[in-house]
Amino acid sequence: MSKINVISGDICTLEVDAIVNAANTTLLGGEGVDGAIHRTAGPGLIEECRNLRGCPIGQAKITSAYNLPCKFVIHTVGPVWKGGDFGEEGLLASAYTNPIRIADNMKLHSIAFPNISTGIYSFPKELAAAISITAVRKALKKYKSIKEVLFCVFDEENLEIYNRILSEPSP
Ligand code: ADP
Repeated sequence: MSKINVISGDICTLEVDAIVNAANTTLLGGEGVDGAIHRTAGPGLIEECRNLRGCPIGQAKITSAYNLPCKFVIHTVGPVWKGGDFGEEGLLASAYTNPIRIADNMKLHSIAFPNISTGIYSFPKELAAAISITAVRKALKKYKSIKEVLFCVFDEENLEIYNRILSEPSP
């Protein structure tokens, strides 16, 4: 049985098999969680990312973790919220599903996600949480190598939202 849990704090400290980076399409670093991951990983990560030649929205690419305590970083790109009529919901779901698919392909067991798109990309937090939890639950039925998924929240609002939705009976 796979488990989904919420953890509060800096994703850069987690000793999981893979952490997911909420990157931008260049994969060359940015602000928010992306900046924190690159700062903690050290310069090797940006070197490796340069060779990846970017990543489309909703897709994902894996790298080594350098000075981070996890084993791998899976870089994904969430959508910028533009009001909801631009496929944002499907693209956000893909930003959760594709890292799980890649982690499963690498036979990894544990993966931690930040709250993709809910920072600078302005996705409504409640909607983003519902999409992410639904997408992860669905993916775990298909990708059996993954035994633990952590939602790593970084603010009180997301902590309350994730704890509430995850405590409700799943449909
Ligand atoms: P995006 O551009 O996808 O919105 P951000 O990095 O701006 O990405 O924000 C995504 C989420 O990551 C936000 O909820 C933000 O609070 C959170 N965050 C920022 N720094 C960290 C960190 N070190 N660990 C975990 N989450 C973080």
